[in-house]
Amino acid sequence: MTTKNSEMKAKADQFGENVFSLKTMRNYLSERAYKSLASTIVNGSALNSVIADEVADAMKTWALEKGATHFTHWFQPLTGITAEKHDSFFTPDREGGVLAQFSGKELIQGEPDASSFPSGGLRATFEARGYTAWDPTSPAFVKDFEGGSVLCIPTIFCGYYGDALDKKTPLLRSQRALCEQLERMATLFGIESTTHAYATLGPEQEYFLIDLEFFKERPDLIQCGRTLFGCRPARHQQLEDHYFGNIKPRVISFMAEVDSELWRLGVPAKTRHNEVAPAQFELAPVFEEQNLAVDHNMITMMVLQEVAARHGLACLLHEKPFAGVNGSGKHNNWSVSGPDGKNWLTPGSTPHDNAKFLTMIAAIIKGVDTFAGLLRATVATAGNDHRLGANEAPPAIISIFLGEQLTDIFEQIAKDGAKSSKHAGVIELGVSTIPQLPRDATDRNRTSPMAFTGNKFEFRAVGSNQSCAGTNVALNTIMAWALDEICTELEAAQAKGEDFNAALQKVLKAIVKKHKRVLFDGDGYSDAWKREAAKRGLLNLTYTPAALKELVKPNVVKLFETYKVLSTRELHSRYEIYAETYVKTIAMEAECALRMARTMIAPAAMEYASLLADGAKGPAVAKLSRRVQTGTNTLLAACDMLEAVVKGHDSAKQIAAMGAVRAAADELESLVPESLWPIPGYGEMFFLL
Ligand code: ADP
Ligand code: MG
Repeated sequence: MTTKNSEMKAKADQFGENVFSLKTMRNYLSERAYKSLASTIVNGSALNSVIADEVADAMKTWALEKGATHFTHWFQPLTGITAEKHDSFFTPDREGGVLAQFSGKELIQGEPDASSFPSGGLRATFEARGYTAWDPTSPAFVKDFEGGSVLCIPTIFCGYYGDALDKKTPLLRSQRALCEQLERMATLFGIESTTHAYATLGPEQEYFLIDLEFFKERPDLIQCGRTLFGCRPARHQQLEDHYFGNIKPRVISFMAEVDSELWRLGVPAKTRHNEVAPAQFELAPVFEEQNLAVDHNMITMMVLQEVAARHGLACLLHEKPFAGVNGSGKHNNWSVSGPDGKNWLTPGSTPHDNAKFLTMIAAIIKGVDTFAGLLRATVATAGNDHRLGANEAPPAIISIFLGEQLTDIFEQIAKDGAKSSKHAGVIELGVSTIPQLPRDATDRNRTSPMAFTGNKFEFRAVGSNQSCAGTNVALNTIMAWALDEICTELEAAQAKGEDFNAALQKVLKAIVKKHKRVLFDGDGYSDAWKREAAKRGLLNLTYTPAALKELVKPNVVKLFETYKVLSTRELHSRYEIYAETYVKTIAMEAECALRMARTMIAPAAMEYASLLADGAKGPAVAKLSRRVQTGTNTLLAACDMLEAVVKGHDSAKQIAAMGAVRAAADELESLVPESLWPIPGYGEMFFLL
């Protein structure tokens, strides 16, 4: 083998080397324990706790070989990030040495002091108990850091009375709810059930990279994750030359290390490229079972940040780190693998007579239209407010893009049944040396929040910094509800001896008629759509506090109660936490902006003002001097206004006051010499990579 070849092979061999995967377990577990655990992981059967001690012991042996000294339950509290508390494997052996120990009990259950995690009133601080419990469907992994390694065991996190205090528990519950309805549908449709059904997810992650030195000089980036000041440079994204552009050497080395780190952790990183804004990039994995994909995305965000630091870079995951250029999202590609092991959103060559597929699409139409507010609420954060409803990537109005072929089919269904599918044909390029290209049946629409993209739906409104869990909990549960309703109608028709196909036609037709207002293939960014959507009665919630209220609407409470995904208590606690997080985030930004304006920006402006006053004389200098002085006064006056609201809880007032401070500061940035300006500007951060 050539060196290059063997390097390649080494990379392939490294895939999953830090994961206690099925493949690894085979070498560490008895046949009996392996089979039992594999059945839980692959078939979703209940965990047999008798094997816990053996699994724990095997995991410990493997982790120690990997250099781990500690283990941790790794969970996802409602802060939206991951949590860990390390315990070493070692216990004194009474002879002055230590034994490495790890029991089944320690694997299965942990009890971190939970009092300081947000619980939204589910638990008073004196009721501190919280439990973590092993999720065997997401494999344990070893995380390396400089000077050591730790075994991470994915777990759920719940309170003393079993209330979910995390993002994983409802996700698993919603998967169960969806799975039950898919099984039911399979029975109705005469589809053989050979395996357990599950939702699939491929989250595309966008992010920015800037030089770490710039990052360190900006308190706003350090504390808030986004710039609170900065005037847009002459050049930004106008030339549309960054998207898919040649990747700079420093960035590609970073990406290469990210990929190999992720591969070692079993995360199937696949695609990497430059994104629209300068200094913006994307990483997309191969899709996986949803729970695993959510965990893998959390790992991806962690790895991106850690590797960036090693390369002297800062990775910004915030939805809108820079005003005036595109922000970052996380396209949530969602589909289901049915009990026959097939993707149920695959249209096939004649989608018009693919009953299973059309039923799935109809269920999505019904579900998304009925629960649009809930879907919107799952992506409502202070950071995402800068994207949704602002002048870029998806609008805050939730609608569905089906594309030409499916739209045509559903129009036929609405009339008198679907009889044909439009076909795509080929693309003629007029160049004889280039083969004819097959054309997809449908073009894409990049402005739709929920777009059908061939064999999956891409929900494009998730924020880059968010966990995908919330959105997928909603998608799964909405689908469970819609399929439940559809199956109930079909079963009733069947009981009456009606023809199945005729009954299905009737159900689908009624759905299209009732819910077609949610279908929209046009330009989702246009003002015309905002007007049209209002006419259709679709929600347009552009502001988090309003959007979050959708979480606790009676129909949403009922939805989650019915499918036992979130109890009323759990749902309300989430609402409380997210609403409070929003208020705190804005207040933090307001305080940071005030401090930066007073202690960094105003002093620089005043220094320049005094330089001008003492320097060359003349009418132009006098004019400039006046502008700087006026600008400084405006800034300081705006600071006073901000100070008056900074301690309160009125986010809207804080946002408005911050806006005024920023406007004055950004104006000054275009006047004050760079040598005096205290923070790195957008131009440097965008292009000096
Ligand atoms: P696009 O060009 O539409 O973005 P890609 O094929 O590049 O499409 O896929 C984007 C993301 O969607 C990837 O992460 C991919 O793994 C994921 N994806 C593809 N098929 C599915 C599926 N059946 N379920 C969930 N995600 C999927
Ligand atoms: Mg995509």
